[in-house]
Amino acid sequence: MHQLSASTIDFLASTRPFLVNGRWQAGRQGGLLPCFDPATGDRMGEVHMATAADANDAVGAARAAFDDRRWRGKTPAERQAILLKVADLMMRDAQILAELETANGGKLYGGALHGEIPHAAETFRYYAGWVTKIGGQLFEPSVPGRQYHGFVRDDPVGVAALITPWNGALVSAAWKLAPALAAGCSCILKPAELTPLSSLYLGALLQEAGVPDGVVNILPGAGRDVGAALVRDPGVAKVSFTGSTAVGRGLLADSAQNVTRLSLELGGKSPFIIFADADLDAALPAAAEAIFSNAGQVCVAGSRIYAERAIFDRVVEALRAAADGYRLGPGFDPASTMGPLISGAHRSRVDAMVGQARADGADVVTGGRPVGECGYFYAPTVIVGAAQDSAIVQEEVFGPVVVVAPFDGDREAIALANDSGYGLAASLWTRDTSRALRLAGEIEAGIIWINDHGIPELAMPIGGVKRSGIGREHGLEGLKAFTEPRSVMLRL
Ligand code: ADP
Repeated sequence: MHQLSASTIDFLASTRPFLVNGRWQAGRQGGLLPCFDPATGDRMGEVHMATAADANDAVGAARAAFDDRRWRGKTPAERQAILLKVADLMMRDAQILAELETANGGKLYGGALHGEIPHAAETFRYYAGWVTKIGGQLFEPSVPGRQYHGFVRDDPVGVAALITPWNGALVSAAWKLAPALAAGCSCILKPAELTPLSSLYLGALLQEAGVPDGVVNILPGAGRDVGAALVRDPGVAKVSFTGSTAVGRGLLADSAQNVTRLSLELGGKSPFIIFADADLDAALPAAAEAIFSNAGQVCVAGSRIYAERAIFDRVVEALRAAADGYRLGPGFDPASTMGPLISGAHRSRVDAMVGQARADGADVVTGGRPVGECGYFYAPTVIVGAAQDSAIVQEEVFGPVVVVAPFDGDREAIALANDSGYGLAASLWTRDTSRALRLAGEIEAGIIWINDHGIPELAMPIGGVKRSGIGREHGLEGLKAFTEPRSVMLRL
């Protein structure tokens, strides 16, 4: 079993303060937020909890930092260097960050250390590159009898509230902080209640790298309190949120008052479509990985598998075997291949959805039950025979639960894939590349992989259509989510 490093033990030994205006502090109302290890259910740390009053202070600090230009007024090269330094410091402390993600988020330690932490650091490197490359546009306006020099600048939108989920705490913080800072914004990061620790640690690294006081404020606390206060605050110009569709809807309503700009990365029910001519040696392990990785707590999880009828039985059997082959255990045990769900409440929800599927007449081929005496483990679950309009096919489970259904021909594959309120991601598996390209244009999703699934690419936008969200992260689109065009016409 991997043992926590002395630095992580030290970090967890005291109640962690939060960050406002460069100062680490306790909440005005003195509340504490306990942190749990989902592999044991034990309390493993504690943070000071921010409330709406602290949100107000943080918005004031961020606003002052924005107005006096202490960040956006630095040269692009200076800001680029600081963001690159953030990435270096994250890699220096990768072990601590990975330990926090495993101890608090239930991740497999090896995956956190070699996958998520380097990816989060790389996100800062990617957006550091943009800082010196964002340009504007030049126009010659068509006003009869007058001459102008017309140009459009992409200016930072202002104070950005960044609200993140628990399923990839550090990665989602990086996906939002890096482009917001590259754009020149000041930020308030509101990590999920269940997983605030890695974001707080990152706050100290941002300070060490030279991000000025007040430019990044970090406020752990209840979504309904501090999160909602941020969304409603007139000093917040932009909200970037990743989380459930239900909460996203509430944010749309809350942002209406001030017409606050919103990016929403919401739920998914992503189809994984396997044609009979696919390379099954690649597709079948990938299908298991697409749903069972991180115990299914992944927004782009391939939670609906559609298999062409000729290979349906083989696909179900391969998934059953893969599901039964997982070794559930704590993320710090190198023998574990699947960690726990994030909480007891979440596990009960997952189990209730599987129970509903059974009641609706579906067959649970394997799994479908909580596992173990302690922690929140749930058996990898394969379901067949579910009606296309049943809850288990239409609603996001966010756990290791996959529904598998047969289809006949291209048309039915597309119809089934698109018969969903969600539209985040999809994958198509076939050796016929012209069919794959044709069908990729018909699937209602923000990102489509052909002969792969779930691979993030920082240069390419990711986000949802339909109830999966509004806006995109990554790439130039992800940067422009934190800028506003400003047109200037100079009469000559
Ligand atoms: P998940 O549980 O998958 O992380 P949620 O949508 O419940 O998804 O939460 C995502 C983030 O949104 C969390 O940081 C949470 O605290 C925050 N949040 C929850 N409710 C609200 C709200 N009413 N206003 C603003 N933020 C909220």
